[in-house]
Amino acid sequence: MIRFLFFLGVTLGQINLFKPFDPNYRPENRIDTSDPEYIAITNSWRLPREADGSKHHIPYNYTVELIQHGFYESDRVNNFFRFEGESTVLIESRTLSSFIVMHSGKNFDFKVTNVWLDGVEISKFEQFAEKNYLIMQNELSTWPIGSFHEIKVKFNGAVRKDNSGLYETSYPDADGNVHFMAGTQMECCGARKMFPCFDEPEYKAYFDLKVHTKYPEYHAIFNTEQESVGPSPLGGDYYVTKFDRTMKMSTYILALVISDYDRSVVARSPETDTSVTILGPKVRLDKGEGDYALQLAMDIIDGFSSFYGYNYADAFLPGRAKSDQVGLSDFLAGAMENWGLVTYQNFLIYIIPEEQFEYNVMSVATVFGHELQHQWTGNLITCTWWDEIWINEAFADIGGYLALKWAEPSWNLENEFIVNELFRALRFDDRTGSRPLINKQNNNGAKVENPAQIMGQFDLIAYQKGGSIVRMMIYCMGEDRWQLGMQDYLDANKYTNTDGEIYFKHMQSALDSYPAGDGWDLPYDHSGASPFNKTFDGWVRQMGYPVLRAQADQNLFLVSQSRYLQSGDNIDEPASSLEYKWTIPLPALNMDNEVVMNWMLSNETTVGVPKNLWFDPEAKIFAYYIIEDYQELKKQVNDIFLREEKAAIGLIPSFPKDFHNGVAKYLHSYWKTMVADMTYASQYFHILEITRIFSISSLADGVQRWPMWNTLSYVFNRIVAPNGRETASYSARKMMMFSSSRKLWTDYMGPLAKGAVANVFPSYVDGGSHDAKRAVRDVVDWACFHNEESCLAAAAVNFQKVMSGEQTWDDININMRDLSKNYGIRAGGKKEIDFVKEEIYSGSAGDATLAIRALSYMSSQNADLGYELFDDLLGDQDATNLATALEEFARQTETRDFTITYLQEYGQIVNTWISLQMGTVVQNLCAYIQTQNEFDEIMKIRDVIGLNELSAEAIGQFRACEQRLDENVEFMNAYGSQIIYWLRNYDPNYPL
Ligand SMILES: [Zn+2]
Repeated sequence: MIRFLFFLGVTLGQINLFKPFDPNYRPENRIDTSDPEYIAITNSWRLPREADGSKHHIPYNYTVELIQHGFYESDRVNNFFRFEGESTVLIESRTLSSFIVMHSGKNFDFKVTNVWLDGVEISKFEQFAEKNYLIMQNELSTWPIGSFHEIKVKFNGAVRKDNSGLYETSYPDADGNVHFMAGTQMECCGARKMFPCFDEPEYKAYFDLKVHTKYPEYHAIFNTEQESVGPSPLGGDYYVTKFDRTMKMSTYILALVISDYDRSVVARSPETDTSVTILGPKVRLDKGEGDYALQLAMDIIDGFSSFYGYNYADAFLPGRAKSDQVGLSDFLAGAMENWGLVTYQNFLIYIIPEEQFEYNVMSVATVFGHELQHQWTGNLITCTWWDEIWINEAFADIGGYLALKWAEPSWNLENEFIVNELFRALRFDDRTGSRPLINKQNNNGAKVENPAQIMGQFDLIAYQKGGSIVRMMIYCMGEDRWQLGMQDYLDANKYTNTDGEIYFKHMQSALDSYPAGDGWDLPYDHSGASPFNKTFDGWVRQMGYPVLRAQADQNLFLVSQSRYLQSGDNIDEPASSLEYKWTIPLPALNMDNEVVMNWMLSNETTVGVPKNLWFDPEAKIFAYYIIEDYQELKKQVNDIFLREEKAAIGLIPSFPKDFHNGVAKYLHSYWKTMVADMTYASQYFHILEITRIFSISSLADGVQRWPMWNTLSYVFNRIVAPNGRETASYSARKMMMFSSSRKLWTDYMGPLAKGAVANVFPSYVDGGSHDAKRAVRDVVDWACFHNEESCLAAAAVNFQKVMSGEQTWDDININMRDLSKNYGIRAGGKKEIDFVKEEIYSGSAGDATLAIRALSYMSSQNADLGYELFDDLLGDQDATNLATALEEFARQTETRDFTITYLQEYGQIVNTWISLQMGTVVQNLCAYIQTQNEFDEIMKIRDVIGLNELSAEAIGQFRACEQRLDENVEFMNAYGSQIIYWLRNYDPNYPL
């Protein structure tokens, strides 16, 4: 049946594309718009269906022929590049209605000029702009149910400039010349802007595409391989490319790129024999910027093919499997998983790992994992409708980390996942305006119908929460069972659409195929609904998550749950049929030091679990909940150690010998990090008193893993004003560093990181492992910022190596390079400062800026050398670098005050050179002022220069300074004073 239909598709009649495009053409509205059926169609955002949900028309395959009229300036018509085309779709009619509805762009730049039904041209059609419909009325004959027909449509359009549909983009070559080109973005609702189609994910079909392009240097690529390329019958400079028929697929993963990109970075993957190509500007690929991407794509395609038991190549014609990876300069998303033609923002594909911060390298690897995972979950099986986009995206986020098993096997997936996925989801899902993963219930009546509502679904819930919940499922059922369930799920549903219910069914049968009783079974017996559904309904069908309270009883831990909200008391809103109760996995160590799973059912008010709850030696934070009271946990840990001591003298049965190592310093660092993160988050929304965050910050003491430092940096690099507004433009740690209690603060915060610094520095030259490189950015920044001595000493060692000529800055791993330079200056004196000063004059403008920034890290003891720098730049009349220097020095804790002094004396002459940048200097000087005295000192600069000489912007910044003072005083009164009180109370050296 299907093969026969293909045959029909191929032999559709000759297409005559070569009539000139008429820009003045406007189709008339020829349809009876008072027809009730017409009214119903135009009122709905969804393509028409029967009452039983069956589609009116089912597309089987499209034959599309496009002509693109070139990408040189002379090819523009009214400022736009143009294309035109004809599309024939073979459909099955499942309705007696005379109306046929497809999607087709918008009127202003996409016009349908002619429509034929079964070869006969009709006049009753219109483009209904609001809903992006092409509405056709068939008055020729009544189509019997189950009959097949051809709809042929002729159209033309502009290559858009809004990064949707077929759109214009460009790149510069080695000489700086701009090359124009086109890319596509179809998710969501873009395919209809390139040709009329049934543009909903459920309308899967086959596509045969032919594209005429202009000029020999341009070429077209599509989801499938080029079948043939040759001169076009259009003549002139036109060439025509015909592509292999696609697999059966949704419209939103179609892609077309017409460009003069280089195509020479290509290889075949060893396992699946997939042809992988990295396309891009020649200037970038010649530098090797495509090589990492090539390796990633091959490793991941082959890895997933084996893991999921479905070979990537099987979706393509035999021997014709391909996966193109293409960067686009203009892009609405980060990357797009188009089947066989994945598109990326340039920075997420063209990369030389050794020249990038490890965070950027990690982003590229996980985004490749995400998009290539979509070739299975998303492309092979697809969400039925956008209200369950998590069916695509949550699994793709899991894939982003799973892929590292093959692409970067030495990396620690756990660290990356909790920081980038779990914590971000928890920070978002703790408010009543969140939404359930599955949108059909408990969703406050929210609808997902029009394009704006659809795009709104691509949020932290679909991705980060979805990924976190799937990961929790994997942990609770065991990865081998999950893998089996996924293989089954993919195979049973390939080339069709799916939803949460179908996924749960396959997970249940995977569970059922394993013997029970090994400690990893989900709760609930098999009577009634599926145990898998019962266990996870609470997590997917309602928003939010629980906070757990654990109270120590004689021998047990009594655990209870309630919904966690960051603000407000309305924990029942919006209404949830599941009453904001969850079935909660609670892992604990048994006496043999093995992890066993305990469960709290959603209908239980408390559950007793062993006291060694959460001591997971595998150290996985997998659970999507938070723990209310860390103090209670700490207490029970103390109890355990007390019992351990008693055990040693034979009072109670002995614990396993390595138990002490297993619990590793009270609580595992992951748990500490999570507790810290959520406690900070709570504080910022006024749930906890500020001092509570400090009892938590002590958890960081000695923690080596970087997520803890990443969390501390995240928290202390922002400020919540007493009015509750959170801002990352001001930092709490800087506020404390500019306060009169600076030493109290650094004496506490610096040493917290000492142990972690010692762990990082042995590998400072080559950067060491991925985790060492990740750690450097957070740990060293934290420790050196707080003038921790071993950190400054280590930076100085690197600095000396460069100063002695033993190494160059480029020899120091990039993750450590700027930190070594900056904090080498902080630790050093005149020799170091003179050494970096040289770079202001010897290198490029960019080098000069970096050198000046490094110098702004100088210690306040070197104020004289700071003055000397300002004097030199002033003497050289080097306005650009003088402005940079004053802006940078004005924002640093060590150098701000002497910058004020300098400007009090030389402000007038400085202002004659940098009057336009003076406003920024003043703004930076004022950012953290906390006393009237500081304010008065800054105002002296204004008086020295005089209002007549100052720019309007500078005058405005002097005025804003007063308001900044008020806000900072308010912050210090509300929080700073409590922090200081806590620190004094904590440290016996600072008596109250
Ligand atoms: Zn995605």
